[in-house]
Amino acid sequence: MKRTRKNTRLGVLVVGVVLILLLLVIAIARGGSGLKIGGVKIGDVTDSSIALSWEPVRHAEGYKILLRSEAEDSFSDALQLDGAQTSCTLTNLTQATPYEVCVVAQKGSNETKHPAVLQAMTPPMQGKLDAITQAMDGTDQLRVTFTPNPKAASYELQYMIGEQANFDQAQSLTVQPDTDAFTVSPVQYNQQYYFRVRALAGEGKNAVAGAWSEPEAYFAMEGVDLTGIDLNKPMIALTFDDGPGYNEASDRILDVLEKYGVTATFFMIGENVLDHPENVKRKVELHCELGNHTMRHDHLGSRVTQADIIDCSDAIYQTAGVRPSSFRSPGGNTTELIRQECAKENMPLYYWSVDTQDWKYRNADHIYNAVMNNVSDGDIILMHEIYLSTADAVERMIPALLDQGYQLVTCRQLIAAKTGKAPESGTQYLDAETIKNETT
Ligand code: ZN
Repeated sequence: MKRTRKNTRLGVLVVGVVLILLLLVIAIARGGSGLKIGGVKIGDVTDSSIALSWEPVRHAEGYKILLRSEAEDSFSDALQLDGAQTSCTLTNLTQATPYEVCVVAQKGSNETKHPAVLQAMTPPMQGKLDAITQAMDGTDQLRVTFTPNPKAASYELQYMIGEQANFDQAQSLTVQPDTDAFTVSPVQYNQQYYFRVRALAGEGKNAVAGAWSEPEAYFAMEGVDLTGIDLNKPMIALTFDDGPGYNEASDRILDVLEKYGVTATFFMIGENVLDHPENVKRKVELHCELGNHTMRHDHLGSRVTQADIIDCSDAIYQTAGVRPSSFRSPGGNTTELIRQECAKENMPLYYWSVDTQDWKYRNADHIYNAVMNNVSDGDIILMHEIYLSTADAVERMIPALLDQGYQLVTCRQLIAAKTGKAPESGTQYLDAETIKNETT
């Protein structure tokens, strides 16, 4: 009986000790050295976000994400999540920056001790192309400018020629961050180019590339300079025939063009060109387009001979050092012979869509109103550079056209800008988009 009571006390003691040990084991398993977190992975990293995932921790009540950037001394709490979550995305981060992240599991007052530290570098922002322009100084190059990125260590450009953007076979160029343009040279003219750019940041294992810009297309046209022309804004071509004149009208028209930094196209008579070389050279300096209007203006339409055209081109070349890039028939009517000779001499032909009849009215108000009341985007406007009344009208007309938002360009620029292709030699244009090839 005595022995039995002793055994019972011993049993209670053993059970008690076992229970305490069990509780201790459970406590250790669930606290302190417990709440271990595994399988933490970095997912998608963009220029402003880092995605994370991890394996669920049993009984975790929540997760805390710690973050610090290269510039910060210590971690700070970036996100607090409930225990059901096993992934998250940190947002509003800075581009091209190395970050360290940790995931901490929480239960009551316990949390993961010594969580693993993962590193991720955000890439630079997506590249952005600004403009593609064609050098017209004979250097045979395309200039591709882009928006600079203060975090970039370098920039990469890819370009290719083809019907549509496909960069599998693209060529690649790299420039340092102190430049804001790529130079592509030599240029294959009359070809469709595509470009895209991206920024690169970081060094060594942290080197990371930003996303490519949207591709930009550019049609490289031989001898067409579209520098400074906004393709989305209205533009017209002023044209002046029969000069240079034997009074000051021609020079006054050039004065206005120079004052406002605009250009025009001059269809000149060969004999007048030879008599006024300084005026013709000034037109070249002002980036005006030189046009052939036959040697003597003594044959109209079907009576224009091959020699009328060739002699005028030679007179312009002899005077200005450049050959004319356009032709207008005296009176405007054209023939197969004219078109064939123009095709041979690389000259498109230009008719007009607005006729000021300045030769008939010789009145500045009439000429001014004829333009201002009829002008629209893409027009080719006919005037003559030999009348003082035309010069008077031009002095008022050009600022008024600029006020209305028109860009004043050459015929060649107008066709190129509006059609995306260089004007075709031997083809006659009536305005930016209308071809008038019927012959007399
Ligand atoms: Zn004429």
